[in-house]
Amino acid sequence: MRPAILFPLFAETRTLPGVGPRLEKLIAQVAGRRLVDLIFDLPTGVVDRSYRPKLIAAEAGRIATVAVNVLDHLPPYDKRQPYRVRCSDDTAAMELVFFHAHADYLNQALPKGSRRIVSGRIERFNNRLQMPHPDYVLPPEQEPELPLHEPVYALTENLPGKSLAKAIRGALEKVPAVPEWQDASFLKARGWQPFAEALHKAHAPVHEADLSPDTPERSRLAYDELLANQLALILIRAHMRAAKGRVLNGDGHLKAKALVALPFVLTEAQQQTLGEIEADMASPTRMLRLLQGDVGAGKTVVAMLALLGAVEAGAQGALMAPTEILARQHMAALEPIAKAAGVRMALLTGRERGPSRDATLEALAKGEIDILVGTHALFSEDVAFRDLGLAVVDEQHRFGVHQRMTLQGKAERLVDVLVMTATPIPRTLALTAYGDMDVSRLHGRPPGRKPVETRVLPVERLDEVVEHLRKAIATGARAYWVCPLVAESEKIDLAAAEERAVELRKALGPKVGLVHGQMKAVERDAAMERFKNGDIALLVATTVIEVGVDVPEATIMVVEHAERFGLAQLHQLRGRVGRGARKSSCLLVYQPPLGETAKARLKTLRETDDGFVIAEEDLRLRGPGELLGTRQSGEIEFRMADLAAHGELLTAARDDAKLVLSRDPDLKSPRGEALRVLLYLFGRDEAVRYLRAG
Ligand code: ADP
Ligand code: MG
Repeated sequence: MRPAILFPLFAETRTLPGVGPRLEKLIAQVAGRRLVDLIFDLPTGVVDRSYRPKLIAAEAGRIATVAVNVLDHLPPYDKRQPYRVRCSDDTAAMELVFFHAHADYLNQALPKGSRRIVSGRIERFNNRLQMPHPDYVLPPEQEPELPLHEPVYALTENLPGKSLAKAIRGALEKVPAVPEWQDASFLKARGWQPFAEALHKAHAPVHEADLSPDTPERSRLAYDELLANQLALILIRAHMRAAKGRVLNGDGHLKAKALVALPFVLTEAQQQTLGEIEADMASPTRMLRLLQGDVGAGKTVVAMLALLGAVEAGAQGALMAPTEILARQHMAALEPIAKAAGVRMALLTGRERGPSRDATLEALAKGEIDILVGTHALFSEDVAFRDLGLAVVDEQHRFGVHQRMTLQGKAERLVDVLVMTATPIPRTLALTAYGDMDVSRLHGRPPGRKPVETRVLPVERLDEVVEHLRKAIATGARAYWVCPLVAESEKIDLAAAEERAVELRKALGPKVGLVHGQMKAVERDAAMERFKNGDIALLVATTVIEVGVDVPEATIMVVEHAERFGLAQLHQLRGRVGRGARKSSCLLVYQPPLGETAKARLKTLRETDDGFVIAEEDLRLRGPGELLGTRQSGEIEFRMADLAAHGELLTAARDDAKLVLSRDPDLKSPRGEALRVLLYLFGRDEAVRYLRAG
């Protein structure tokens, strides 16, 4: 149970004064539903109102606080004009400008002849000073109420900054006196203040420098969050380990048949990772292993051989893909191997319905199906295996630790779990997102793959790209054209892609197709099919193809607005080509001017093809403060820790968590008790449940 001391922080935001249903919703979008979400929503900027010029010397563009006399009011002639209030100090005049103003309010706030303190951004317009919509208008006696330094928070449309700031101030008032969960000497050595103090300080920046992730207060808070994360992962992992698994010890007879049927031999890297997996399966503890490797590194074959091992041991296997297309692709690729080994395999996705679905389910329950391939439909209520032994989850980086646990909970007996991800994850991220798992890394690529030639060019040269495509298509080449992520909204992205498809059709003829995320699965599969068989030569796409479609005939990848994609994403896109025998190329088209980070990203892509290197570089390039945006690489969401900036703290938290738990495995010492509060504070309730009652 959550300790009572934290109750106030877990109250809903609507309990705050001034927060009604409308504001509650908007606040939920940027921070969350509870006060604790508000206190962890740190400022992204600071407004400095300490600049107090005389008007004659006021610099346009700056936030200024000025004492003025109100001269007169100039109401607008018509509604589209602003309401103006003329003021002056003893050096110059200035107009306060209000659009959609209420005259009553302005007469009351700025009576003619009164003296007022106004604060806001000063502008110069037609050589006259003006201040549109001052942030503050106060009578002189209220001047002490004017905040000289105000935190700025990330907003969303229709959420007024002042309302959010007020809600956050309200939440901060509710922060209780918590016991110190950090080691006293560690805090001292780092020069960090207590939690509540750090929190208040972090919300009260004075200078830009106070927003840096390495201030003492932000470091402390990040460390708290990372420590909670690491403690939780170690506890979950210990729980999983303690849970009895089963011994899946195949005799190798199916694997041998499959290996003979394969048109290639396993690479050394594949043999090694398969060995790691088989050892886990054969051990009496439960397997929780992450198999990382680039697109095309050959993970699927490894997974299939592991599944055969489970079947050899008398159990069933499941392979879950994130999308319908991928599930079908896996089925198509693996069925011949299954046939060769004499193993029964079936497909189950959301699209299998009615009698055929019933038949599959029945066969599955009877054990007449050995390996089931599908989407998350595999884990719906009515799907019952006779004896599931190994679950392979492909590209599951969209899920977090929590979902993985739910999924494992579904299995009646403890199932070995192998997660495959095509997004190599930097070591630090693997620690936080997959710290509950063992990791196998599949390096390199199968032999015979030609490297993809990568070219970077500005959008002015788009004509050349089209020309290149025209020639290539004439020789039978197949190409992708990925459209930019321009907006948050998929609708807008879609409009851009549609427009591009129309233009390309004009330039290149009818063999131009379009796929996007809003298409029905059937339509999308149909379009992919036509691309596969060559009816479509150029496939314009929003990023749906990111998820791993395999068309070996495709040899050209054009990415428009490449500067807007993350490094890992671009790497994934590039991985769509270079799968066949023909030489492939990737054209990254950018919109100048390129920012420093975008430049570095594109340079990295040109220089390396190693997903592990790219992943590390990706993390490094995300400057502090840059949103961990596209969330493509298994990142779990930290609210205060910034893995690009706090990597060192993560390692420290890892060591700290290990040490604490080795000495006090059930968190019963005084520090242990305090750490329980920390775990609850960061919503790690499930980890606390694994502790013996304290
Ligand atoms: P991943 O699942 O890692 O994206 P796949 O398992 O789909 O990669 O493998 C990509 C391609 O390489 C497939 O066509 C597969 O048949 C082939 N392949 C896998 N292993 C080897 C190997 N050892 N030698 C040659 N080709 C291989
Ligand atoms: Mg096992």
